[in-house]
Amino acid sequence: MVQLKNKQVILKKYVSGFPRESDLQVVENFIELKKVPEGSNQILPKNLYLSCDPYQRAMMSNSFVSRFGSYTPGAPIHGYGVAKVVESGHPDYEKDDLVWGYAIWEEYSLVPSSHMLFKIEHTNVPLSYYTGILGVLGITAYAGFYEIGCPKKEDCAFVSDASGGIGQLVGQFAKLLGCYVVGSAGSKEKVDLLKNKLGFDEAFNYKEEPDLDATLKRYFPKGIDIYFDNVGGKTLDMVLVNIRIHGRICQCGMISQYNLDQPEGITNLAQLIYKRVRMHGFSASDYYQLYPKYLGFILPLIKEGKIVYVEVKVEGLENGPAALVGLYGGHNVGKQVVVIAHE
Ligand code: NAP
Repeated sequence: MVQLKNKQVILKKYVSGFPRESDLQVVENFIELKKVPEGSNQILPKNLYLSCDPYQRAMMSNSFVSRFGSYTPGAPIHGYGVAKVVESGHPDYEKDDLVWGYAIWEEYSLVPSSHMLFKIEHTNVPLSYYTGILGVLGITAYAGFYEIGCPKKEDCAFVSDASGGIGQLVGQFAKLLGCYVVGSAGSKEKVDLLKNKLGFDEAFNYKEEPDLDATLKRYFPKGIDIYFDNVGGKTLDMVLVNIRIHGRICQCGMISQYNLDQPEGITNLAQLIYKRVRMHGFSASDYYQLYPKYLGFILPLIKEGKIVYVEVKVEGLENGPAALVGLYGGHNVGKQVVVIAHE
């Protein structure tokens, strides 16, 4: 039996307001690399890449509004990641298999295989992509845009948080279909990325647009057909004023609200009626059955260079807390990944 040092990221206490790096702590424990008993259904993965996701903020509090449950103070946090199987007590997994899905923020874990885990079959792409474009974010962008947005060629589409993991994909899916696409983001660097690298028709820095109604009218003189909403709040409220008859709102996330004690109200909901708009909240977990179809769609696009994917990596679990809380300050340009080990 081998005992290994096992670095972990734990939540120190429940958070209110904006999370800080000091709300999380990197500690060193030990894990026994013993043979997982056959039939125990547990696997022992070595974690390679971790995904930093906005929903993790909800789990840092014990508020009743969180559908995800809460982290336990003093215990390691969890989310999604990519790992290599070291030992397996489940017949579906073997030593050295690569998997993505549920991951605890530590170097080695013992996890029940009943947790969401997908085996990685395609390895001719960067493995870190399974924290994003080839993982939950990819399914979210695909299901949200195609299933809920019901897009048509020449639709006018607006994407908020457009340079993030999901937004960058939605914008590119919309361009591939022949839509007119505008994205919003929170810095000049991100706006340049959207226009010059990701192929958006237009992009603007929402922090420099005090009159969002006027901004949307400038970019969408005839109105918005599809709004892919990652931020909620005032942006959503102004989109309601600027959406077209029979418009669709893909309600993906509301990151502008996650750190507020009191969420902002939406005042223009009556527009849904006047314009017969379909506003549809959705969760990626309802669409995991589309994953094989999604892979068939996205892998050739990556291979042919028809989709650009931007991720930003920090090395080492000790840099995980800063990377995670940095999401809420807009520090990440692209999908934020924590590298624990390169296989
Ligand atoms: P992400 O881009 O990594 O999110 C971080 C970005 O959010 C930041 O870089 C920042 O960019 C932006 N942001 C932070 N605070 C903001 C604020 N107050 N107002 C506007 N923007 C703010 O996120 P992602 O992983 O692509 O996720 C995008 C959204 O989808 C999130 O709301 C997330 O919760 C949601 N989501 C939903 C599902 C689902 O199944 N429905 C699945 C995964 C994720 P700026 O610099 O541009 O402000």
